[in-house]
Amino acid sequence: MNIHEYQAKEIFRAAGIPVPPGEVASTPEEAERIARKFGGNVVVKAQVHAGGRGKAGGVKLAKTPEEVGSVAERILSLTIKDLPVKKVLVTPAADITTEAYVGVIVDRASKKPVFMVSPAGGIDIEEVAAKTPDKIRRHPVDPRYGLRLYEAMELGFFLYSDVRQARAAAKIMQQLYSVFIANGGSLAEINPLVTTPTGDVVALDAKMVVDDNELDRLPAIAALRDETSEAPSEVEARKANLTFIKLDGNVGCIVNGAGLAMATMDLVKYYGGEPANFLDIGGSSNPEKVVAALRIITADPNVKAILFNIFGGITRTDDVANGIVTAIKANPLKVPLVIRLTGTNEEIAVKILQENGLSAMTDMDEAVKKAVALATGKKAA
Ligand code: GDP
Ligand code: MN
Repeated sequence: MNIHEYQAKEIFRAAGIPVPPGEVASTPEEAERIARKFGGNVVVKAQVHAGGRGKAGGVKLAKTPEEVGSVAERILSLTIKDLPVKKVLVTPAADITTEAYVGVIVDRASKKPVFMVSPAGGIDIEEVAAKTPDKIRRHPVDPRYGLRLYEAMELGFFLYSDVRQARAAAKIMQQLYSVFIANGGSLAEINPLVTTPTGDVVALDAKMVVDDNELDRLPAIAALRDETSEAPSEVEARKANLTFIKLDGNVGCIVNGAGLAMATMDLVKYYGGEPANFLDIGGSSNPEKVVAALRIITADPNVKAILFNIFGGITRTDDVANGIVTAIKANPLKVPLVIRLTGTNEEIAVKILQENGLSAMTDMDEAVKKAVALATGKKAA
């Protein structure tokens, strides 16, 4: 789950990380009022779940409260990476001397939290990693001990030669690590971590992603979810208990089981297509889940063909067939449908489909090839 910058900043601030004050506005008037409180010279920042807001015009400096009003109006009318801006953070502008990057992620390869720090901050860290990899330091943390002071100091000196600043950064990184662990983070990031002309080290941006699996034991964090800032398809999928991730291709995939869903996507790509999504209807499916899955997928205008790939074990293929029939009766499809199913109650499923003018395949390769051909208009290679 993503949380907003202003929410992450509140959490960081409570942990002692130096973060400038700030308040959230959803109208230009409100933004202007907040700016007055801070003396006029502020930054107005779009609160959307997307990086690179600066480049997209979502972060702007303003010198007077009136200017804040017009800047906020412009930012509140923006759509950044398909996400409409509904709120802005108004925060006093800081004078920047240097911009660094500090982040910690859960790294699957080392099975540890890994710090990534760079004195070349502000811009995309991916760009730094690609062009000047020597400017990034990676440091795996032993979760039994956390980020110890000597490790934090070493990272601090990678960022700053000034002892005072290195110490300040080390303390911030230890605090960031605590926040990351305590809140079930899969990522916690400060970009930029700046130095000011007076030599202070301050976090000007804050980002945190929380592992969904942690939310049950962290109700206060779960309550930070802002559904108005999420893709509508992902909100609906979560409510229907479907694991869904929207992608950019045109073959809509409805599959049971995460492993089979991954294999299906691989095969779609292998035959020259691009999956429009990852969707796992789960082990024990009921017809309602299938109806919801079809509704979500058909709402995506990029989808040119829909592929069901169901391997019936606990999942009963007749449940899936009933779901397909119910969904199509309510909402006839505008794109071709390819159904592959095999396993539990297969004969019943095939009969249900046939009685409703649909057919099913049993071979996964053939089904994927057909779906790719239908989506691309080309015969699969
Ligand atoms: P992002 O583009 O979504 O990561 O948004 P950031 O909060 O990181 O802001 C982008 C850039 O705007 C930063 O790297 C800074 O260069 C600039 N910026 C943000 N806040 C301030 C500020 O208080 N003062 C100044 N001078 N620049 C700022
Ligand atoms: Mn940033």
